Amino acid sequence: MNRDFPPIDNTTEPAFDVLVVGGGIQGAGVAQAAQAAGYRTLVVEKTAWAAGTSSKSSKLIHGGLRYLQSGDFALVRESLHERALLLKLAPQLVHSNWFVIPIYRDSRYRPWQIRAGLSLYWLLTGCREEGRFEVIPRAKWPQLPGLKTEGLQSVFRYRDAQTDDSKLTAAVVQSAVSLGAQTRCPATLLSAEATAAGYRVQLESSEGVETVHSRLLVNAAGPWINRVAERLSPHPRQLEIELVQGAHLVLDQQISAQCFYLESPEDGRAVFVLPWYEGTLLGTTETAFSGDPDQLRPSAEERRYLLKVLHHYFPDYRGMVCGDMAGLRVLPKEQAGFHWRSREVQFVEGNHYLAIYGGKLTGYRATAEKAMQRISKVLGGATPQADTRTLPLPSGL
Ligand SMILES: Cc1cc2nc3c(=O)[nH]c(=O)nc-3n(C[C@H](O)[C@H](O)[C@H](O)COP(=O)(O)OP(=O)(O)OC[C@H]3O[C@@H](n4cnc5c(N)ncnc54)[C@H](O)[C@@H]3O)c2cc1C
Repeated sequence: MNRDFPPIDNTTEPAFDVLVVGGGIQGAGVAQAAQAAGYRTLVVEKTAWAAGTSSKSSKLIHGGLRYLQSGDFALVRESLHERALLLKLAPQLVHSNWFVIPIYRDSRYRPWQIRAGLSLYWLLTGCREEGRFEVIPRAKWPQLPGLKTEGLQSVFRYRDAQTDDSKLTAAVVQSAVSLGAQTRCPATLLSAEATAAGYRVQLESSEGVETVHSRLLVNAAGPWINRVAERLSPHPRQLEIELVQGAHLVLDQQISAQCFYLESPEDGRAVFVLPWYEGTLLGTTETAFSGDPDQLRPSAEERRYLLKVLHHYFPDYRGMVCGDMAGLRVLPKEQAGFHWRSREVQFVEGNHYLAIYGGKLTGYRATAEKAMQRISKVLGGATPQADTRTLPLPSGL
């Protein structure tokens, strides 16, 4: 249990203005923004910072080129804005890279469609350097290491950004702490009861059960969000959601220092091949999930699917799988296929309660800003001590 701070005074007068449940990127972001806005904040995480989805993502800080297909322009614009901010505020954690898109005779999209999409992407960055794209001439194709060239028609590349999602989350927590936020990790929210002043919350850790009082409770428990809501009394409103598993494989040899944006030969879904430390990250999948989020594992079928994509495009690659991971997307329950469902964050507001459903790693700061608009309406004014739009994230993690 984190004991860098004095013990909490367990009186009925709330010791905290904001108690955040969940130490993934969304919980970390809200804790940072709440403390920056001048609210006394506590963030509680049951396992370890970024132990959930926030260490299992594709680790991209991206506009989401493919969301242009579904017409999510606002999401793409916001994500591109956040990408530009993070490149400035966390250069030690977020770096720009080239993303290569090879188009084959049998690819789902034609070169003109990719050119149109990339032009729109560039326009949405405000025609800045970081949104630039180019066509790789045929003479340079042999420089694309091991990429299948049979049937290749065109190759585009554009710029997006990569991060280490666990380190990014830890840096945001560290930023919140340096502003004065308190933490409990590992500690689990067991139950919370609404009171006239907010919530009385029971936290369990290896040191026993602790009761704390907060004026407002933020549920940022990612895939566990409705399980946490069930622990609150009275139960707040819950959104109907579907959990969708996404797996990645880690390969022990790097294919390229650039990223590849590929189309699965099986179903046309986007699959990334990304440099990841000395190796390669390959993902991801979309599989309906109905089990316990604590028991998540990539399946043999997901492994087969991803390796098929890899060997289709890089037939001579001889690296081995040395790790794997699976995370859960929180998507609204609706008819559309997983691929087409909105990645926009959704909020559920209750009395002294705010729940954050879904969202992206990339947009965590913007999500926290939207959460703060709602939180400050309930809690009233405080004296801000920092602005997350200009606050650099700590380095040296
Ligand atoms: C496969 C995949 C790839 C993705 N790739 C990208 C990408 O490249 N770029 C991008 O921008 N987005 C990406 N996303 C989306 C992004 O990763 C998620 O939106 C984000 O990580 C969710 O963060 P979160 O904080 O909401 O949830 P989580 O990271 O899951 O955090 C929730 C936390 O709550 C804790 N918790 C649960 N119950 C309790 C309790 N009772 N008490 C205390 N703590 C509790 C959990 O331990 C967990 O740490 C991807 C998502 C998936 C699934």
